[in-house]
Amino acid sequence: MASSLRARLWLSYALLILVLLCSMGTGIVVSLVNSPWLYRQVIMRMRLTEATTVQMVSTVAMGDTAALDQIVKAQADQSAFQLAIFDPSGAIAASSGQTNLLPALVFPLQDTASDSDLWSVASFRDINHQVRFYTLHSLKDGYYLLVETPRPRAQLITFIDNELFSPIIISGILALALMIVIGILMDRWVSSPLRKMKDSARSLAVGTYQAIPVEGPQEIQQLAQSLNEMSKQVRESSQSQRDFVSNVSHELKTPLTSIQGFAQAIMDGTAQTPETLHQAAEVIYKEAGRMNRLVLDLLTLARLEAGTADLQKSGVDLNELLKNVVDKFALQVRQNQVSLMWKEQGLPTIIGDGDRLVQVFTNIIDNALKFTPAGGRITLSAIQKLSQVIISIADTGPGIAPQDQKRIFERFYQVDKSRQGGARRGVGLGLPIARQIILAHGGDIWVESQPGQGSTFMVRLPVARSDDTTLQVKLKDL
Ligand code: ADP
Repeated sequence: MASSLRARLWLSYALLILVLLCSMGTGIVVSLVNSPWLYRQVIMRMRLTEATTVQMVSTVAMGDTAALDQIVKAQADQSAFQLAIFDPSGAIAASSGQTNLLPALVFPLQDTASDSDLWSVASFRDINHQVRFYTLHSLKDGYYLLVETPRPRAQLITFIDNELFSPIIISGILALALMIVIGILMDRWVSSPLRKMKDSARSLAVGTYQAIPVEGPQEIQQLAQSLNEMSKQVRESSQSQRDFVSNVSHELKTPLTSIQGFAQAIMDGTAQTPETLHQAAEVIYKEAGRMNRLVLDLLTLARLEAGTADLQKSGVDLNELLKNVVDKFALQVRQNQVSLMWKEQGLPTIIGDGDRLVQVFTNIIDNALKFTPAGGRITLSAIQKLSQVIISIADTGPGIAPQDQKRIFERFYQVDKSRQGGARRGVGLGLPIARQIILAHGGDIWVESQPGQGSTFMVRLPVARSDDTTLQVKLKDL
């Protein structure tokens, strides 16, 4: 029941109005019950009876109980109120009857005849617990006159019935009409943008994307914005998955085609001589190696991205690590006729996986060598800034266009595939792997470059704190 937002809104309005009307009605009735103005007529008549009786009593002696009795009975007959006269001790001197109703009265009673209080009466509960109104007036010689009557209940109900019921009903109907108008407006403000949002979300689920309109109340606008953002990310992620599959297939297809071709040549006898056979076997071996490297790289990347890569962290001497990497490239540097400079300096120890960090710097320097023309320069430098060390590898290669600078850290992204030939041709996984390794060390990697003026790769790594337990273990081992 009432599962839709619209139904719930309407229901809550109806309930709100009902509660309001009920509490207003109750408030009015309670204030009427407690307020004397509704009983004015009765009070007026009581006061009148009281005045006439006082006047009549003044003509007789107070000890003449028979005369007093006659007066109160006559007045009671005329007015339909009960009357009684009390002597100074509080005993009944004369009464119009039904005196059994009076014992609940406790003396001294309140004298209600003061001028300022002419329109109010006092009340008490009789032995049947019925509320009764009374007026009390002092007579001569310490006697009292009491005029009393049950609280006129019928009058109140009639009043509510005649005077209050229809306004309450009318205001209820008006409130209902207002509720319908507010309901329609609220439906436009709240439910309708939500309905549109639901349709858009459904379209996203079935793959036909539809942007959610950003409208309605602030919270709903924020929700629409978040959903749009989320759907953008979902689309990007499914796009990147599609790209990934197509890239992997493409990268596997090339070596597989070669392997298949040369295996075929061996089988059908095209490659017969020992040289051609050797050449075919060599190609098959190389291409299989390429496939193996690709699969290993993908596996490493997947593990690093999932956070399941097993990093062997310990204290790493950065000076030594970088020196070893630079030394590895000595031959290639000479062959490429470039210069690779690394000025050893007092770098701090960091906590990390030495082999993985070697992989990072090897990949960056390898790329720099690939792109730096003969006569060019590759410079390695490092500075320590407070608790971090920043290592930069600058080359004098062609540089990287601003739009490619972020993208080269994406899987399989290569700025210009046609230029990536040669035996050491990469597939665009080196930098993404490097980035994941650096992130796993709590650091960061980025590139600064001006096309035509070379590129500088920057790696930021946190320096080991002196209280680092891994470092202490390592130092103890030494
Ligand atoms: P790969 O080297 O296997 O192509 P990487 O992820 O290492 O893949 O590099 C991605 C791309 O970034 C390269 O293909 C190249 O286009 C670009 N790149 C990397 N380093 C440099 C550099 N020093 N100068 C110019 N371009 C570079």
